Order: sequence, then structure tokens, then C-alpha cells
Amino acid sequence: MNRLAIVVPCYNEEEMLPITTRELTDVLEDLQKKGKIAEDSYILYVDDGSKDATWHIISSQHEEFAHVQGLKLAGNVGHQFALTAGMISAAKNADVVISIDADLQDDTGVMEEMIDKFDAGCDIVYGVRNDRKKDSLFKRTTAQLFYKTMAAMGVKTIYNHADFRLMSRRAVESFSQYQESNLYIRGIVPMLGYQTDCVYYERKERVAGSSKYPLNKMLSLAWNGITSFSVRPINYVTTLGMLIVAVAVIAGIYALVSFGTGHVVQGWTSLILSVWFLGGLQIFAIGLVGQYIGKIYLEVKHRPRYQVETYLGDEEEK
Ligand code: UDP
Ligand code: MG
Repeated sequence: MNRLAIVVPCYNEEEMLPITTRELTDVLEDLQKKGKIAEDSYILYVDDGSKDATWHIISSQHEEFAHVQGLKLAGNVGHQFALTAGMISAAKNADVVISIDADLQDDTGVMEEMIDKFDAGCDIVYGVRNDRKKDSLFKRTTAQLFYKTMAAMGVKTIYNHADFRLMSRRAVESFSQYQESNLYIRGIVPMLGYQTDCVYYERKERVAGSSKYPLNKMLSLAWNGITSFSVRPINYVTTLGMLIVAVAVIAGIYALVSFGTGHVVQGWTSLILSVWFLGGLQIFAIGLVGQYIGKIYLEVKHRPRYQVETYLGDEEEK
């Protein structure tokens, strides 16, 4: 029988945790009763440097329930790294890992279907939202725009899939070999290969607490997703630069040819405008190149991506 670990990244989730544990426990018990997962399957909460009582709740739940484990990171490293820490830790002693957000916006009801697909031979099963009615109009349109941009940039992603997914132990092990500092998990997982499938569900509203993903974090995730996987922006800027040079050359030739016919008005407005336009374009291009150099800089340093402070598991793992 396969041992399942449900990995849940938590940042200031004190209001959610009791509800989350109750619901996930029901799911585990149901799956165990149906003989689909092992009796020692568990929930692994990853505390991503929370400032509230999150870790306190996790450790007291660990005392109370045999199936609740905790991993406390030494500081806030963000959702993507917290999730990575949890998955890598869980894959050391579990056969299959499902990641889900603490706020239960994703439907735990499809976990059974995920396990069925895993049993049928899939290494990766994506949870895909089939509608976004419960998200705000703003979130919906920005997300749409994001997926479209990613596709245009040639990044392989699963449409409407967040980080609710099942991965086998070997898929997590493969994933852990991607040692990048600009981490965008949703971009890496489709590159792993293996047999994959999707399950579909309706996205719900957050039950308690507030979103830990404000606009700036969302934008930086999107930016990371594009610049960590694609160099097309550089190509676009290069093409644009060449086009502008071509236009300038043609205009210059025209000015020379029609010199003295009265068609060329002498003025400084056009001059100033073109200076500003080209100056701005150059700064933009330099900035963009700088973005990539910045990434090279961060990757080259090869820093550890997170530090584990405490691990409440079954064996002393770390
Ligand atoms: N989260 C985290 N570290 C952070 C921010 C968020 O571990 O720095 C967790 C959070 O606790 C939740 C998940 O990531 O379990 C998704 O966050 P949230 O539900 O707030 O995002 P939204 O659904 O609003 O995009
Ligand atoms: Mg959420």
C-alpha cells in the first residue's frame, strides 16, 4: 500500500489550520477505509516563517494526532520554496505526495481521483480548475493574461493549474534536481516528463483568513515564471531595436533626397522627441538585459534555498 503525504505550505494560517486538519483528516480516513493508501499516510505542514500562532498550532496538532507532521522553516521564503521544502522532505518517506494550499480553495474531493490515476501509472496528476467564478474579476483577467503571455513566450504550463498536484516519489526526486534560485514550480514540473494526467474541480472561496498573495507577490511570481523560462523578451527588444534603426535610416535617406524641396521642416521638436524616444528605448533594453544578468548572478551563487529549523516527523530525518 502506498504511503501518501499531503504537503501544505502555511504562512500566517492560524485561522485556517484547525479547519484544514479536520478536512484533510477526513480525506485520509476515507482513502484508508477504501484501501487506497497506507495507514501511516500523513499531513505535512510547512510553516513558512509565520508571525502568528501557526507553528504553535502545528506542533500541538502533532502532539495530538499521529498523522500530523510539521516542518518549520527558519524564515519566510515564499510559497514556492516552502512547497519545495515540504515535497522534498515528504518524498524521503512517502511514496506519493499531494500538495495543496492551506486555505482549501482547491477541492480535496478530487484527491481520490488523483490517487486512482497514480495507481493507474501516472507520476504527475495536475489539479485543474474548470471555472473561476469564485475569483474576483481582477484576479480572473490577470490570470488569463498571464497564461496567454506565458504561452506566447513559449513556456509550457498547464492552463488553470495552480500548485494543487500529485507527484510520485521519483517525480519529486527529479524535480529536486532543478536547483534554481528563481523558482517557478509550475514551469518546471511539465519539463520533467513522465506520464501525466489532469483532474478537474471547481475552485472555492477561501474559508478563513485572508489571501497571502497580494498583487506584488502575484506580479513577481508571473515575472519569475516568464524570465526564468524564456529569453524571448530579449529577442523582442532586439527586433524592435533593429526595426527602429531601419525606420531611422529610411527617414534619413528621404530627408537627404528631398533636401531643398521645402518638405523638410527644420525644428527641434522632432529632434528632441527622437532623442527621448531612443534614449528611453535604450534604457529599457539595458534594464531588460540587466534582469537576466541579475538572474545569472543569483544562480551562480548557488545559495541554499531554505533552512529547516525544526522537523516534527516520525524519524529524525534531518
Ligand atoms: N504561502 C506561503 N508563503 C508565503 C505566502 C503564502 O507558504 O509567503 C501559502 C499560504 O499559506 C497558502 C498558499 O501559500 O497555503 C497560497 O496562498 P493564498 O491562498 O493566500 O494565495 P491565493 O489563493 O490568494 O493566491
Ligand atoms: Mg488561496
